[in-house]
Amino acid sequence: MIAEVIVDIAHSDVDKIFDYACDDRLQAGTRVAVPFGRGAATGFVMRVKESSDVPPEKLKKIYRAEEEEPALNAECLCLAEKIKNRYRCPMALVLRLFLPAEMRTGRVGEASRSFARLAEGPFEISPRAKQQLSLVDFLRDNREADTAFLRNRFGGALKALIDKGIVLVERRRVFRDPYRGVAGEGTEHTLTPAQEGAVRTIESTDKTVALLHGVTGSGKTEVYLRLIAGQLEKGKTAIFLVPEISLTPQMLSQLRARFGSLAAILHSGLSAGERFDEWRRLREGSARIAIGARSAVFAPVENVGVIVIDEEHDGSYSSENAPRYNTFDIALLRANYNHCKLVLGSATPSVEAYKRAMDGEFELVRLPERINRRPLPEVELVDMRREVRRGNPSPFSVVLRERLRSCLDSGNQAILFLNRRGYSQTVLCRDCGYVAKCEHCDVALTYHSEENCLKCHYCGARYHMLEGCPSCGSVHIGYVGTGTQRVVGELKKLYPSARILRMDNDTTSGKEGHYKILKQFADRQADILVGTQMVAKGHDFPSVTLVGILDADMSLHFPDYRSGERTFQLVTQVAGRSGRAQERGEVVLQTYEPENSILRFAAKYDYEGFYEHEIAIRAGMFPPYAKIVRVMVVGEDEKEALAALREVFGKLEAVYAKQPEKFLFFNKMHSPIKRIKEKFRYQVLMRITDGAPLREIYAICSAASYKKTIVYVEENPSNLS
Ligand code: ADP
Ligand code: ZN
Ligand code: ZN
Repeated sequence: MIAEVIVDIAHSDVDKIFDYACDDRLQAGTRVAVPFGRGAATGFVMRVKESSDVPPEKLKKIYRAEEEEPALNAECLCLAEKIKNRYRCPMALVLRLFLPAEMRTGRVGEASRSFARLAEGPFEISPRAKQQLSLVDFLRDNREADTAFLRNRFGGALKALIDKGIVLVERRRVFRDPYRGVAGEGTEHTLTPAQEGAVRTIESTDKTVALLHGVTGSGKTEVYLRLIAGQLEKGKTAIFLVPEISLTPQMLSQLRARFGSLAAILHSGLSAGERFDEWRRLREGSARIAIGARSAVFAPVENVGVIVIDEEHDGSYSSENAPRYNTFDIALLRANYNHCKLVLGSATPSVEAYKRAMDGEFELVRLPERINRRPLPEVELVDMRREVRRGNPSPFSVVLRERLRSCLDSGNQAILFLNRRGYSQTVLCRDCGYVAKCEHCDVALTYHSEENCLKCHYCGARYHMLEGCPSCGSVHIGYVGTGTQRVVGELKKLYPSARILRMDNDTTSGKEGHYKILKQFADRQADILVGTQMVAKGHDFPSVTLVGILDADMSLHFPDYRSGERTFQLVTQVAGRSGRAQERGEVVLQTYEPENSILRFAAKYDYEGFYEHEIAIRAGMFPPYAKIVRVMVVGEDEKEALAALREVFGKLEAVYAKQPEKFLFFNKMHSPIKRIKEKFRYQVLMRITDGAPLREIYAICSAASYKKTIVYVEENPSNLS
């Protein structure tokens, strides 16, 4: 037989099928060792066939198969083909997505342990061998035990008994259990009529994709779990994607309680071995629900019954490594392959998803109320310009201070949120709230300190740094933000007895640290949690009755067409942490721009209003009407990178020239950050419409090959730096 093999080398020169002779038991999807060039390589069998065009004397033989069961199933192979076609990257890179990294590098293997049990009696043991006697007793009581444990407890007696044939040892494979420490908690609720309606609609719609738009605390999780359980009953599997499961202990224990070992939870806190074992349990079918962040969309489950993407709007769903896939795209491919439903859930759907629901492509399902009709917390907009005028320089308005005081007095907890993103980049008039914007793009400009100028990250336009406010003439121009550290300092002065936790990228090393802080707060070891974006994620802290948003403006003018959307999402999500249990919650939203429409919609939880406003601004210019495509040319050798840019740009220009009407914008420029980690960065920026030759753009970029420069494509990148 002949195997068609892709070698596991991510280079366009070897990105093709190589034929090898193999024996007829070899199956497609198996990893194999093959002779390659003058050495050896690992490869993936894509197909097995009867004959080859390669003359028999030139045909090399496969060395060996790396595993008995193919690592990749039929669906993976089919999907890989489609992904490669879509993103035009080497097949090896695509196939790697489907395997745990640990498997490819061979650094972890299967774990196994030895177990001891008694042989069939009768046997004689000298009454003086006390240890041997007690070991035998122990095994009589326990049937079997781990040999390491027995050696520890009974010393040399174990070996003596094994030698006499009284104790038998068997080596067995075990799975490392990453959740030893997680107690399963959480009850299965009786669905509310609204939840039940949602489940029924999603199960019965003939549309593949359903968008579950439910306010914070409306019980979306219960809907997902019910959908998943329904599919498991039918013998199917499920994929449940969440942005940051390692940060939400409640979610972990809930899943553990509900599905036990049927769930494989893949998260960043796992060790390499644990991740590998979870993957294997899914591949073998002993686990049937894959839960995790975006990479879990590649989980090796078969016969998928439902795919859920929770917090669908979250930025973590687009990959920042090649291939730069979008999780939704992959999930949709899988849903189509398996003829199953894809459920997107959010309190603040992305404008793109909502538009597709409005256009009738997705089924729209709403949960407009919180569980038990608990009211959404009231949002109070506070004008910080007035505070400045009143001579209050502190990061807290008078209103917020009063609310904090009464929250603490009543023994409840508070969260204070600071928007660090975009902070100290955007230029703002401290007196009137004026924000410097680009003349051509209606996005805020970014201050570049090294050149002391303002730039537009969308069209590359440059502007002089402002000396005074063009709107009111004030000289109080600033890019001043307030760090979490300062906030904590001020809080300590104001509330000396309050216990305060701070959470941001500086205070916490890695996810572990975040988890610890959140756990402490959940256990009520602190009264106030001060933090940046991470405190906004889906936490459910029942005692939180006050949320303070200190600087709502800071993401409003982030230089990104999505800044309005991001702000709306953030405010809604953070506000949603308040008043989730019995007591009514409050939200204080501080801003220099209280008349801003995005903030006004957010304060009223008016998603539809926000959507109408936003879609009108974007019409004909930005996603979802147009796609932003950025071709990055990045290299440490400036000359080579520039030459590469010119060459790639030339080829792209030829594509552009054929159909200029499909391009709303097309130009080459420095990337906003010209150099990162010693590498020079150039880009060709495009805004394209439907039907633009995206595949040709990808093809040009993946064919580009330089010594020290890489070229890649980004679609609607979440970060344009
Ligand atoms: P969301 O994900 O929509 O923000 P959650 O799924 O976190 O909301 O649910 C909010 C709260 O309501 C949780 O504490 C959850 O345990 C509870 N809950 C969910 N469904 C029900 C139900 N049917 N009956 C009672 N409580 C429920
Ligand atoms: Zn001004
Ligand atoms: Zn511009």
